[in-house]
Amino acid sequence: MFPNIRIILVETYHPGNLGSTARAMKTMGLTQLYLVNPVSFPHPEATQLAAGAEDVLNQARVCDNLQQAVKDCSLVIGASARLRHLALTNFNPRQAAEALQAESQAGEVALVFGRERSGLHNDELAFCTHQVSIDGNPDYSILNIAQAVQILCYEIFNAKPTTPSKKVLAAEQLPSLEAIQGFEDHLAKALAASGFLNGASDRALKELQTFFRRARPNQHELGILRSLVSRLEKQGNFYYQQQKDNHK
Ligand code: SAH
Repeated sequence: MFPNIRIILVETYHPGNLGSTARAMKTMGLTQLYLVNPVSFPHPEATQLAAGAEDVLNQARVCDNLQQAVKDCSLVIGASARLRHLALTNFNPRQAAEALQAESQAGEVALVFGRERSGLHNDELAFCTHQVSIDGNPDYSILNIAQAVQILCYEIFNAKPTTPSKKVLAAEQLPSLEAIQGFEDHLAKALAASGFLNGASDRALKELQTFFRRARPNQHELGILRSLVSRLEKQGNFYYQQQKDNHK
């Protein structure tokens, strides 16, 4: 039912949670499961807890890192009990489900879950465009991972289907994370060459990355940004050459 919405589990420790997640997904019509470095997979306990959802589990794609798992996605929502990445917009489950449903009509989207013990690390949240948290008891709101998957998949199943026009779909055509990263690498090279970046300002680059992921430029805007950096790069080279010539 939702071929463009993927559920990604990062470094899940208990194999039983992999099976329970597959089951939670299938009951709500989701089938695309991605496992980033699962600790034990395949595993009989995973198969056992999948019950009737072994098909989802068996088709799961295993990736080495989160970057690989989300590179073709435009919307990437990280699920976190605590708001750790304050620079990202935070959704409640319904808002997250509506955004996933709407954007999945234009391309691939992902919902990412962290490790049982330590959740998602900050360098992983950096690959997310938004985060979602499920509100609960303020003294104890950390759910079992498969139960968190169940609640969010239930919201996706029940989110009102939108039928955007072709024009809206084209406007919503957002670049993949890989394309945004390509731009960021280009920008980093240009900034390093200009002297703006040095070891100490790597932090500035990270903050810029978060900014671009949050801003989510569309394909056209990304094109403008890329040609802007190329032009500045060329002028920078020209200026640099002139300086060199003046010193000859
Ligand atoms: N000790 C970890 C908890 C991890 S629970 C931490 O402090 O982050 C495993 C995963 O389940 C989390 O990374 C998150 O993706 C999901 N999860 C658990 N409770 C959640 C909640 N209330 N809201 C959103 N996601 C939740």
